[in-house]
Parts: sequence; C-alpha cells; structure tokens
Amino acid sequence: MNDSTDTHPMNNKYTCLHCGACCRIRGFVRVTPEEIDRMASLLGIPPHDFIERYTRLAQDRSGLELAEKENGKCVLLAGNDCLVQQVKPRQCRTFPDEWRYPGVEEICKAYMKSITPNS
Ligand code: SF4
Repeated sequence: MNDSTDTHPMNNKYTCLHCGACCRIRGFVRVTPEEIDRMASLLGIPPHDFIERYTRLAQDRSGLELAEKENGKCVLLAGNDCLVQQVKPRQCRTFPDEWRYPGVEEICKAYMKSITPNS
C-alpha cells in the first residue's frame, strides 16, 4: 500500500517514504463495489474486467479483495507506484494510522519514525 501523498491525512507526523514496502507483503485488501468502480474508471476498463484481472474472492467469501502476485506483491503495484493511487481503497488510505497489524514498524519505516521521532 504505497501512499504517494506526502502527509497522511489522519496524522501529520506520518510522512510516506514511497518505498512500497507495505504493498509487497502478503495480506488482503478488501474492496467495495464503489472502490472497484473508481479504480476501473481510472484504469479505463469496465468494472467487470477489473474484477477479473485484479481481484479474488475473500477467504470468508463475503466479498472481494485485491489479488496478489505470486511473490505476495499487490497486483496493482508497479515498481514502487500504486497504479490506482488517486482512488486506492480505503484500507490502503488509512494504513497505518487508522489500522495496522502487529509488527508494522518492521515494514513501515515512516510509521516507525512517526512513533519514535528521535530514533
Ligand atoms: S492498491 Fe495500491 S496502495 Fe493498495 S496495496 Fe495495492 S499497490 Fe498498495
């Protein structure tokens, strides 16, 4: 989940380093129908094509999530850039300030810096 905005909206101390590290680890990014519509529109493809190319059924079968490449990278990560940066899913936009997983400090150096500014 690479956030190319310089300052996270929920925490001004958080400054994204544009490393893409959080988009390279295995996990899941849930997507809503509205988010799919926005991402498909940005990529210039029909929502149905977006669903086929970039999503998979969530493990609990209650919805869709973004697919991963074999190495665990998000299917929408290109280099260090998110292909849908302007309209990326809420789960990506709110990480790591609104939600995070244990050990996020190991992945996100920017977050680590925001919680231990003198390190
Ligand atoms: S949608 Fe973008 S920000 Fe979210 S995990 Fe994929 S590449 Fe990262």
